[in-house]
Amino acid sequence: MTTEQEKKKTIGLEEIVSFSKRRGFVFPSSEIYGGFGAVYDYGPYGVELANNIKRFWWREMVQKNANIVGLDSAIFMHPKVWEASGHTESFSDPLAECKQCHSRVRVDHLLEEAGVFADEKMSEEEINKLLQKNKEKLRCPKCGASDFSKAKNFNLLVQSNLGNFTGNWQQNPVYLRGETCQGIYINFKNVLDSTRQKIPFGIAQIGKAFRNEITARQFIFRKREFEQMEMQMFTHPREATKIYQTWKEKRWQYYLDLGIKKENIRWHQHENLVFYAQDAWDIEYRFPFGFKELEGVHYRTDYDLSQHSKVSGAKLQYRDPKTNEVFTPHVIETSVGVDRTFLALLTEAYQSEELANGGTRAVLKLPAFLAPIKIAIFPLLKNKPELVKKARQIFDSLKNDWMCEFDDNGNIGKRYRRQDEIGTPYCVTVDFDSLNDNSVTVRERDTMEQVRVKTEELKNWFQTKNLSL
Ligand code: ATP
Repeated sequence: MTTEQEKKKTIGLEEIVSFSKRRGFVFPSSEIYGGFGAVYDYGPYGVELANNIKRFWWREMVQKNANIVGLDSAIFMHPKVWEASGHTESFSDPLAECKQCHSRVRVDHLLEEAGVFADEKMSEEEINKLLQKNKEKLRCPKCGASDFSKAKNFNLLVQSNLGNFTGNWQQNPVYLRGETCQGIYINFKNVLDSTRQKIPFGIAQIGKAFRNEITARQFIFRKREFEQMEMQMFTHPREATKIYQTWKEKRWQYYLDLGIKKENIRWHQHENLVFYAQDAWDIEYRFPFGFKELEGVHYRTDYDLSQHSKVSGAKLQYRDPKTNEVFTPHVIETSVGVDRTFLALLTEAYQSEELANGGTRAVLKLPAFLAPIKIAIFPLLKNKPELVKKARQIFDSLKNDWMCEFDDNGNIGKRYRRQDEIGTPYCVTVDFDSLNDNSVTVRERDTMEQVRVKTEELKNWFQTKNLSL
């Protein structure tokens, strides 16, 4: 194990949570009202990082693939969508109550902790049999007791009363979408008819999804309102397996390009496949609480389009223009959360580093293209108008091209530390020499090396540094 890995091991979830709040990345929702379980807000630097993650995904998936197009479907959909997809019937987690401390726990998680794997689609009865059989091995995560009530399935869809003016919306609810891909399936025909795409082609979408998650823990790993980046590739059944392999490789490479070390990701194959899936693998990341799912890469056969055809009556098929063969395409899905990517990147990049002078610094070693702020600009002293004026001019000359920050608070050392901790790749300082030689000091985050650059050359200098996507 390298020293860097040893150092990283010591950075736990608590440290990430406190850093995220202290430095304006992630805030607990509605904090002044005591918080709101498993809901979080992105702060000024968090929203920049999240936007950069989404931009990168969009570039890799849509911009770089001529046969993938984008979509932004609504969060609300006809309730029949969720009936057709099977969500109203079986999108649920089994829940049991600890008889000792009365906390509610997910039975699949309890079993998993005990080394027993439960199929996602198991009935209540089957889950209860497993629970009974493994009774001795189970431990309440809160109090350690092993006595649980019977498990009950708890549906994860979040209900709303949209458009229901009669007041009995609980009987006929609409739902906030539980996953973004249903919006893709129901627009398959619209996209096909309005573009010149031919199979195999994909539809990509980034957007919010909502789930009534039972256990509100592990920070932004499991939120009730979260954001997904999903791509559904529609293929001929004959080609599906080959295309599935290609996308598995592409999605693995994507994480390496995102700056994640390969020892921190691994493949996990689903042992118990949902009945319609042909093959399903997850990419797991080594979060502070262990390897957990970051992305799903799944071969879903023709299940989704067939179901929507059946329930809606619409023909969701494809006619091959050359052979005239008509068929229901098979779907290869890649599905990842913005929030889990965000947490993986903080886990990967946040480190505490020992300095040559004996001190330590916290530094967020994000790749420059992901950094919330690309360049920070400082006047050496805030009460010297000539320095402030020149620093402001530099800020103005760079702000059109990069996200910059002007900072004149505290001494230069402190300003460097602040920028290091939020991952800013470069700091520019205007000092007294700058007034005479028209040069500034540029300091690099990782090496902490400083170079003098002529003010008029600054923009070209930064242009060579790949700061943006
Ligand atoms: P898990 O088993 O961890 O609950 P899942 O298998 O239900 O996840 P999918 O339905 O496959 O997740 O969703 C695809 C992706 O969406 C996941 O890989 C994850 O990155 C993200 N995701 C799912 N649920 C949440 C959540 N509650 N909070 C944040 N991200 C989520």
